[in-house]
Amino acid sequence: MLETPHALVGAAIVTKIPNPLISLPLAFASHFVLDMVPHWNPHLNTELQKYGHVTKRSTIIVAADVLISLALGSFIALNFSTDPTHMNTIFLGAFAGVLPDVVEGPYFFLSWKNEFVKKWLMFQKSIQVDTTMVPGLATQIVTVVAVFWWIAS
Ligand SMILES: [Zn+2]
Repeated sequence: MLETPHALVGAAIVTKIPNPLISLPLAFASHFVLDMVPHWNPHLNTELQKYGHVTKRSTIIVAADVLISLALGSFIALNFSTDPTHMNTIFLGAFAGVLPDVVEGPYFFLSWKNEFVKKWLMFQKSIQVDTTMVPGLATQIVTVVAVFWWIAS
């Protein structure tokens, strides 16, 4: 899945459960649950194997996705700025939500071939439910809208 829904679900969990000892592990765990929702994202591993590097198009999508997740994640966290501790925990929640993919970043973009990351990648791949682009983006847009609805409710 793209990082934006992962980050926002992580942040949303903390808005509802302020105790970081509960909410941060939940935010981390939400990553794997979300990856079981049929989705589309750039196939970095396939590209790496095929071309020896990630394509420019996918790099642009990943960069845009990271910027959007930072912007929307900050928007959610800043809504709780009257309680700085809670606000910071929301930032951490967003980070916990993307952490399983963040550890793969150097593998894809810095050619850092690490055995642990390779095994991690295989594990994440094994639970992914991929689909084609249009329905696979629709499920993620619905997820993002549901997150904002949940936070506001
Ligand atoms: Zn993932």
